[in-house]
Amino acid sequence: MHASSLDILHSVFGYTAFRGQQQAIVEHVAEGGDALVLMPTGGGKSLCYQIPALLRQGTGIVVSPLIALMQDQVDALREAGVAAAYLNSSLGAEDQREVERRLLAGELNLLYVAPERLLTQRFLGLLERTEVALFAIDEAHCVSQWGHDFRPEYRELTLLHQRFPEVPRIALTATADPRTREEIVERLALQDARQFMSSFDRPNIRYRVGQRHNARRQLMEFLDGHRGEAGIVYALSRKKVDETAAWLAEAGFGALPYHAGLDAATRAGNQQRFLREDGVVMVATVAFGMGIDKPDVRFVAHLDLPRSMEGYYQETGRAGRDGLPAEAWMIYGLSDVVTMSQMIAQSESADERKRVERQKLEALLAYAEATHCRREVLLGAFGEQYHGPCGHCDNCIEPPKTWDATVPAQKALSAVYRSGQRYGSGYVIDILRGNDNERMRDLGHDKLSTFGIGADMDEKQWRSVFRQLLAAGLLEADADGYGTLRLARASREVLVGGKQVLLREDARPERRSRRRRDSQVVTGSSLGIEAYEQPLWDALRALRSQLAKQQGVPPYVVFHDATLLAMLRAMPANESELGEVSGVGEAKLKRYGRDFLAVINAPD
Ligand code: ADP
Ligand code: ZN
Repeated sequence: MHASSLDILHSVFGYTAFRGQQQAIVEHVAEGGDALVLMPTGGGKSLCYQIPALLRQGTGIVVSPLIALMQDQVDALREAGVAAAYLNSSLGAEDQREVERRLLAGELNLLYVAPERLLTQRFLGLLERTEVALFAIDEAHCVSQWGHDFRPEYRELTLLHQRFPEVPRIALTATADPRTREEIVERLALQDARQFMSSFDRPNIRYRVGQRHNARRQLMEFLDGHRGEAGIVYALSRKKVDETAAWLAEAGFGALPYHAGLDAATRAGNQQRFLREDGVVMVATVAFGMGIDKPDVRFVAHLDLPRSMEGYYQETGRAGRDGLPAEAWMIYGLSDVVTMSQMIAQSESADERKRVERQKLEALLAYAEATHCRREVLLGAFGEQYHGPCGHCDNCIEPPKTWDATVPAQKALSAVYRSGQRYGSGYVIDILRGNDNERMRDLGHDKLSTFGIGADMDEKQWRSVFRQLLAAGLLEADADGYGTLRLARASREVLVGGKQVLLREDARPERRSRRRRDSQVVTGSSLGIEAYEQPLWDALRALRSQLAKQQGVPPYVVFHDATLLAMLRAMPANESELGEVSGVGEAKLKRYGRDFLAVINAPD
């Protein structure tokens, strides 16, 4: 009797239902069709090729650029009772030969390979003597020369189609950009493949963006709501990463640094601890994250503006892969906007490239300064029409107030103009506020008509105005490296045409939340763990850690948080009830069932 896709979903992976388009994809590929799958991170791409590989005769060959990730995926599959292996440069000669032997003997359901390995004559020769169920090309956007993850070997993968025309291919990516999609189709010769496109919305992520007043205090308040949870804090510079990590560690967080300036062993060690221990906060530059498949990252915090919307989406997307509530939080300030604007002006790039970069910055700032649903702006940047309000972002939860800033904007713009477009915001604000000093008198700026015309607003309010004028493209930062401001073309409409300028009233700094006084660490605040559930939740996590450590795998390979949470709520009394819990397949039930039931049903 042939197993159905649903049988396998249930018995092997322990899930009750397919998500989104999974079933259609699985069936299309299982029947031999080619597919291009675009699905956001955490959407459930892996099952789209794993189940067809189990349904079809032969071995599914998975091309993946991320060596670090292969091992976790293979461990997770083995836990579920699937015959899986990987071939990459991390294996010794003997282990490699053993994997090849198993491949030729038809003993493997799935084999993960790095692209450079796949393309060797030796490996292609092996494949010719093997029955291949399918080719899965993961992270397919690596074919794109324009992206951050370009891998030249990916372009040679058309060879698979030429040498094995009858084997179905499925290419998968979480990159939303339409241009990248076209490139994948073209580069991998997938013109005839069926395209499966999902919405890129990540409904379980809550988005929040705020002004930076006091970065440390703001971060501390944010993290207080996430004690005991795993998360990533992104900062722009290595120095800031080191300082923030040290300071958080002192404040009692399990915080570790990660950036390209650390030696390879420290980096690998810190990454390993992030993956294998519960509740580690990784403080990192953007060098961290590629190929991090950890499902239970509960938050991603940005202390500076990210490079672009794509970068922001990718980085925040590392939160909440398991579908449980997660938070994307960012603070930024005027200096970020000036720095980014300068970096573009200074770069050696051709004008065309600079124009694209400026547009990207504008898109990012439009998001950061948005006064309506963030999700609408975020998805809109990738060409997806989302109709808010989503009810799950800061702007939806607490709509920001705006005020008519036309007059202050005119004052600011003319002060920039009258002082010769040669100064940064700090000096221009001094002119507006009428703060004279020696330098100003020497330069004669205390005689300007704009001197002191903005004394009715304090320095902080003026900084907010300047930031938003930059963000709105009414001011530009010069390439000189000093943050010099000049008028952008659009400013004419405000200065001469009297066009209305609406700015957001910057939220007052959040009031310092009461610190938790009790020494007990609350470990599941994002997940809504109640106080009475806490002891059992901690016990389940401790058992999971212990089992994971025994086997040398990350805890989530044993069971995901979502599965532990389901156990906590269902309180299964016996094996058959435990088997009904989402995420508990047959192999795991057999291996772990007794231990978990003992913890769940232990007398208080
Ligand atoms: P992606 O590769 O798209 O980022 P994964 O394949 O890693 O996503 O899946 C994300 C998470 O969702 C994993 O924890 C996976 O086990 C879980 N998952 C996938 N499909 C289902 C499903 N049908 N039911 C429940 N959980 C699922
Ligand atoms: Zn919203």
